[in-house]
Amino acid sequence: SDHQLIYPPSPDHMDWSSLYPHYVVDAPQAQETLATETPVGQDLALVQPKRLTQDVEVADIGCGFGGLLVALAPTMPNTLILGLEIRVSVTQFVEDRIKALRAQSQEGLYRNASVLRANTMKFLPNFFRKAQLSKIFICFPDPHFKVRKHKQRIVSTTLNSEYAYVVRPGGVVYTITDVPDLHEWMVQHFEAHPSFERVSEEEQDADPCVHIMRTETEEGKKVERHKGQKHVALFRRLDDPVW
Ligand code: SAM
Repeated sequence: SDHQLIYPPSPDHMDWSSLYPHYVVDAPQAQETLATETPVGQDLALVQPKRLTQDVEVADIGCGFGGLLVALAPTMPNTLILGLEIRVSVTQFVEDRIKALRAQSQEGLYRNASVLRANTMKFLPNFFRKAQLSKIFICFPDPHFKVRKHKQRIVSTTLNSEYAYVVRPGGVVYTITDVPDLHEWMVQHFEAHPSFERVSEEEQDADPCVHIMRTETEEGKKVERHKGQKHVALFRRLDDPVW
């Protein structure tokens, strides 16, 4: 349950170093300065987490077994990608999967992908700063869409405001589902939100991420096997109005 989940009080408190060890800033200078300010016996890591050379920019909400993550990672090797998943065993599976792929890769691929156990319906702004993300993927969410109450859905008026907060202007939220009613629900809610506009079909079809999302997610493959329909919709984060 959520009780075992740990959230940083703010993005500045988040220690990403174990997730992306190859991107940790080697800054003995900063550590020295800190050491003089740190009370004796206090753990340095608790005072200030190690910094990365760059921030996470792409998030896969409810990443499941990580098919999208591992397919995307080599296509954007200079971008940090994070899967967020609520189930413990599934998160562990993805962690092991990425670890194995990193070890196998001669070219240092997959170092830019990682996974974190989290409930994305809570505290997303504790992990990501305003406008930090360029892409969010929401692939085959809410399998029990019909029976879930509005507030329990991954796309809602409230959560869309959180997505708007963490995604930068020009950034894109990607959605895909095989449930027509859920597709309509997501389109309605993003289109009604003042921070988003729907991306044209032309642009959508030309986006290589859309192809990956259709074919590489575990759910996408399942729908393919059952010859089901996949409904895709992309939403661009608009500029904030000037007051
Ligand atoms: N995106 C993957 C795919 O397309 O193959 C998995 C889709 S699966 C139907 C939905 C996933 O979202 C499950 O793995 C589930 O555990 C996860 N999930 C559901 N609610 C979540 C939440 N609030 N925070 C994080 N993950 C969640």
